[in-house]
Amino acid sequence: MPKSLKSQLTSTILAIVLITIIVISFLANIFINRKFTDYVARQQELKVQIIVSSISEQYSASTQQWDNHYLQAIGMFSLYEGYIIRVYDKDGNILWDAMSHDMSLCNQIMDKISRRMEVEYPRLDGEFVSSDYELVKDGETVGMVSISCFGPFFLNENDVNFLHSLNTILIIIALAASLASLFVCHIMADRISRPILKTVDATRQIAEGRYEIRLEEESRIREIKLLEGTINHLAGSLETLERMRKQLTADVAHELRTPISILQSYLEAMTEGIWEATSERLASCQEEVVRISKLVGDLEQLTRIEADNLKLEKSEVDLRLLIEKTVNAFEAELKDKGLTVTISGAKPHLMADYDRLKQVVANLLSNSIKYSDCGKSIQFEIFDAGKSCGFVIMDMGTGIDSEELPFIFERFYRADKSRNRHTGGSGIGLAIVKSIVYAHGGEVTVQSEKNIGSAFTVTLPKK
Ligand code: ADP
Repeated sequence: MPKSLKSQLTSTILAIVLITIIVISFLANIFINRKFTDYVARQQELKVQIIVSSISEQYSASTQQWDNHYLQAIGMFSLYEGYIIRVYDKDGNILWDAMSHDMSLCNQIMDKISRRMEVEYPRLDGEFVSSDYELVKDGETVGMVSISCFGPFFLNENDVNFLHSLNTILIIIALAASLASLFVCHIMADRISRPILKTVDATRQIAEGRYEIRLEEESRIREIKLLEGTINHLAGSLETLERMRKQLTADVAHELRTPISILQSYLEAMTEGIWEATSERLASCQEEVVRISKLVGDLEQLTRIEADNLKLEKSEVDLRLLIEKTVNAFEAELKDKGLTVTISGAKPHLMADYDRLKQVVANLLSNSIKYSDCGKSIQFEIFDAGKSCGFVIMDMGTGIDSEELPFIFERFYRADKSRNRHTGGSGIGLAIVKSIVYAHGGEVTVQSEKNIGSAFTVTLPKK
């Protein structure tokens, strides 16, 4: 069973945070401990020096006497600090000795320090060691002191408390950081997983056919926002496809209904003897049959071109010659409407499917003729842009509304909604143009203004 994104994210981030905290705590502990023991050892040396100089100060050179009262005070103070001292005069006589003063207190303090160090530093293996120091006053040796303390260093109660509170603070920081990261992970995982779950739900609904579903693109995470945008785009495309599919069925039915009902009524009237089968009436019937067969032919051609296995038979094509030949084939229609065609520009050669490219030019030219008023002109401007080439066909025809422009390349789309049968088109011509141009790796664009004219630009790669 795969884990949810939320728990996966939470456990991963938590593991990273915990490992980081453990490593930092471990290193901090080692580092602080080392620095602290160095500091304690230095302090210890300093204290010994202070004890030695304080004792020396108790000798009076003028009276050659020691102040026994202060010697005892210094001795007791040192004892409580963990230093057991014995003071000698310059003749080696004992002036003051902590052991003989209060042996049980000395033992008690020594015991306490040894036990504390055993607990805190079990591997230190320390013991009480004593060292002798000369007592010097005004450059003259006045006696000696023997100081015994736990070595190589020892901690007093305050030092231990300090170390313990440092460790407690580290533990509290670690706990607080873990809790904070858990909280942040939870919020973050929620922020990521919630929109993903929403997207999954929307995708499921789209798969079930509810193409109108749209996601609110509100995530603050760029990738998720992109995903939401893509799903919306997908839903939009599917919606358009579905609409086009329904439209196609309706349009095919609609396109066929009119000529078939005309045929049916004509033929019925003629077979029942209501109408005489004159050659004009038979010609009308034939016209409708031609219309149906043209529609079926157009549809067939479009299906073939749109099929994945569209095979282009490419050869070197002289674009200008191809356009000239196509224009010539329309001579009769052009003459009928008194239209003039001019061809200008470059003379590029390209690798293309000759027949299909001719079809592109023919469809565009046929539209320009269809939607131009008598006496106007149509212009072909051929261009060569190095790796690509193409042509622009401009007419001074009816033009197309800007709202209609995005749809004119869809099959059966006709800008004139009234579907005037006399314009003759089935709305497939431009769909065929687009399919052929796309199959060549090129593109077709249109610029048009109502009542001014239209310009279709076809750009094709040369190879
Ligand atoms: P049709 O067979 O109806 O001409 P097309 O696919 O060739 O179908 O064109 C789609 C629609 O685009 C047309 O119905 C028409 O409204 C518009 N159109 C295409 N070419 C032109 C043009 N040169 N001038 C004005 N409108 C055009």
